[in-house]
Amino acid sequence: MSEKRTELSDLGEFGLIEQISRNTKISQASTLKGIGDDAAVLKTNSDQHTVISTDLLLEGTHFDLAYVPLQHLGYKAVAVNISDICAMNAIAEQITVSLGLSNRFSLEAVDALYEGIRLACQSYNVDLVGGDTTSSRSGLVISITAIGRVSPEKMAYRNTAQNNDILCVTGDLGGAYTGLQILEREKQVFLANPEMQPQLERNSYVVGRQLKPEARADIIHELADLEIVPTSMIDISDGLASEALHLARQSGLGVMLYEDKIPIDKETYDIIINDFKFSPTIAALNGGEDYELLFTIRQSDYEKIKNHRDISTIGHMTTKKQGYKLTSRSGVILDLKAQGWTHFAS
Ligand code: ADP
Ligand code: MG
Repeated sequence: MSEKRTELSDLGEFGLIEQISRNTKISQASTLKGIGDDAAVLKTNSDQHTVISTDLLLEGTHFDLAYVPLQHLGYKAVAVNISDICAMNAIAEQITVSLGLSNRFSLEAVDALYEGIRLACQSYNVDLVGGDTTSSRSGLVISITAIGRVSPEKMAYRNTAQNNDILCVTGDLGGAYTGLQILEREKQVFLANPEMQPQLERNSYVVGRQLKPEARADIIHELADLEIVPTSMIDISDGLASEALHLARQSGLGVMLYEDKIPIDKETYDIIINDFKFSPTIAALNGGEDYELLFTIRQSDYEKIKNHRDISTIGHMTTKKQGYKLTSRSGVILDLKAQGWTHFAS
């Protein structure tokens, strides 16, 4: 008798999450947002909502200790969680850290990891308030949960963009992916000498983008100063294309991106072209791990940000019927596609 078996690789990460979400009922009135955004939103008795986000990082899947120093890993693990809190337009206040450790790790190694975690706690002004520690047979496992607060009228969900809203992105894109390509290329050198830890200072901008990303908490404060509440927001963990599609689809809209507006740093651009003979636009669209913020604003807010040094306007929302599109540099309109998620595929 054969039982039905569906491969996770056929479903993909988003398909799987959709399936879990469909079969999950919300019963508490205090659960304002469950599965489906960058963070869950809970109503409390104060005038602010609580937002909670969690991430799991696995050695071999998300990081390779051959070239990732433990301090940077600790910092990055915190930063990527804070980034999800920022994506709700909220301010992070606490984190918990859970670890799976094998006997391959010494106290000194754990200290190094926590050095990075504490540095991140300091720079984002969050408290480390707990966690869990277990032994692991499959390398290092790190799970971090971040908790933040935001007043209800400032909350930015993924599904609340409106037609004609302007699509904005912070910083520049494709750098983290390019840094990863460099590190992968150099990996043989690190493997030949396991004692060797790469030094961030000696490496280029792109390697820094991969090893030590920053959550854009600064932008959350600046948007508040400018009195802008994004109509929708998401952080860029999987690439611009994937995240723009999330905002559009979840808001029941279409989206138009302009290739010539996508911000790509000069060093990133040059390395992609010269070293990897690749398309910088594709690196920005599908690269991932930049942890910049992608958000929409009302047209009436455009004047407030048009000269902002670190925010680019890269497109606008359209109707669902107009679809998901990218206007190329030469003016050709292409379909915007997410390369998709491949962790289950291998
Ligand atoms: P992000 O990239 O912002 O971390 P994800 O794509 O990982 O977001 O997750 C999207 C949504 O699905 C979030 O609301 C997250 O909490 C939820 N989610 C992810 N995995 C699970 C799971 N195994 N069970 C329940 N909810 C999940
Ligand atoms: Mg996110």
